[in-house]
Amino acid sequence: MSTLYGQMMDMPLVISGLLRHAENNHSDTEIVTRRIEGDIHRYTYADAGQRIRKLANALEASGIKQGDRTATLAWNTYRHFELYYAVSGMGAVLHTINPRLHPEQVAWIVNHAEDRILFFDATFAPIVDAIAEHCPTIEHWVALSDADKMPELKKVKAISYEDYIRDHADQYEWPTLDENAAAALCYTSGTTGNPKGVLYSHRSLVLHTYGACLPDAFGVDATDIVLPVVPMFHVNAWSLPYVGALAGVKLVFPGAKLDGESLYELFEGEKVTISAGVPTVWLLVLQFLQQNNKKLSTLKRMTVGGSACPPALMKTFKQDYGVQLEHAWGMTEMSPLGTYNHPKAKHLGLSEEERFNVALSQGRAVFGVEMKIVDDKGQRMPQDGKSTGDLHVRGPWVVKQYFKKDESPLVDGWFPTGDVGHIDADGYLTITDRTKDVIKSGGEWIGSIDIENIAMAHPAVAMAACIAAKHEKWDERPLLIVQLKEGQSPSKEEILAHFEGKIAKWWTPDDVLFVDGLPLGATGKVQKNKLRDEYGDHLMKQAG
Ligand code: ADP
Repeated sequence: MSTLYGQMMDMPLVISGLLRHAENNHSDTEIVTRRIEGDIHRYTYADAGQRIRKLANALEASGIKQGDRTATLAWNTYRHFELYYAVSGMGAVLHTINPRLHPEQVAWIVNHAEDRILFFDATFAPIVDAIAEHCPTIEHWVALSDADKMPELKKVKAISYEDYIRDHADQYEWPTLDENAAAALCYTSGTTGNPKGVLYSHRSLVLHTYGACLPDAFGVDATDIVLPVVPMFHVNAWSLPYVGALAGVKLVFPGAKLDGESLYELFEGEKVTISAGVPTVWLLVLQFLQQNNKKLSTLKRMTVGGSACPPALMKTFKQDYGVQLEHAWGMTEMSPLGTYNHPKAKHLGLSEEERFNVALSQGRAVFGVEMKIVDDKGQRMPQDGKSTGDLHVRGPWVVKQYFKKDESPLVDGWFPTGDVGHIDADGYLTITDRTKDVIKSGGEWIGSIDIENIAMAHPAVAMAACIAAKHEKWDERPLLIVQLKEGQSPSKEEILAHFEGKIAKWWTPDDVLFVDGLPLGATGKVQKNKLRDEYGDHLMKQAG
């Protein structure tokens, strides 16, 4: 039987459409940046649109064609925002590189992507010098600087961004692209093995942006002022640069200064209502607020994701500052949004403590993402809030293949996330661990996230990580590694006593080690593989 087709316009979902929407409807809404040069820059979506078209013309003049990869090594700024729209808008591929990676890895990624131009902030001039000789595909190096503030470079001749776009027209006709064409490229941080490229399409990004704006996701509207702390080099800053244009929000970009004080200044100075970042950022902000006795007068909500949000952090922000930390979960392969935590009507009548417990989970799937928990045979497990297994997902903004890799990562059409957790009857997902971090004690699994959350609720603990340490009898046992707050010196026993009654006794860590600092990876997460390398034999040595 032939299909009866709908008779609606066949307009592709493309990134340039988001920009056109912002220019038509929010032309005087501001975009504010703390520049790398140090000053505050402000302009409007209308101004941005003009410069974006100049940039598109400049890229064409450089010979950039549809599908060509154009790389950035850059902070969250208005210039990076312009690159987001100009590169994808003209049909090329915006490749955002994480500057916190080792230069060797940056060079590997540039070569793998075959980037033709690299736009970089002055801060990253040393990386450019380190990689230049190893990156033959790059034809142009453009410093995201004023012409008179160019960084010193030893190995390349670079042009300033302002010179690069200056003489080009601000008129440009955005091409009508296939919505399935590639628009952006982001590599996973590759804790083991080489990084893998995730190639987003215009369609996947636009659909994801719709999803991200939903009331039960970021829930922004045109009265909001949004400060993305999450970097634009990390999964498109969780799509907030696109969300800004779709919803017409004022965007505030923090540049290179991500310390508690600098963020606080922008929160208050720009009257920010919503922000987003990893838990380590909010720990820093909290420390600044507490040490300086400051309050937050406009901030309502902060999205927290990237790793599990410690309940103690959520509680303190709510009770002492009136700010709701909203838990979200996702990954590079998912553009990144998978779940977001908001209550349902049936939760409204609950006590504060009960509602807090609901808020702790990673949240419910955003429409566009379907989730299931499977056992080790790949069988779907019940959605009962306790059956724990591997989390698989699918949806139009979930990866189906990595860039330049032939084999598909999918299993029966689903993407295995590498996370372990359970889902309850209301759809709330709880991540208990990453597959590779799970502690297997005597054939049973112990989730490290629960243990870390309890440890971090101890008043003396700044950060904690729980790893699997080899054990003679049980194969693996939990070992807790703790970074204390300044001036604190509790004993091991005091930390372990804190677990009593909060967790099954056999989940209690076998030992506690105190360290000056936990190793953080390129996306601000604790590198447990490093901790395992260093302390994995601790209990064996102890047993002697
Ligand atoms: P990588 O750090 O490997 O580059 P991503 O930045 O894409 O990868 O991170 C994805 C992973 O981060 C998820 O698979 C999950 O393990 C972890 N993660 C993200 N958000 C949360 C959260 N809210 N709670 C717990 N873990 C999370």
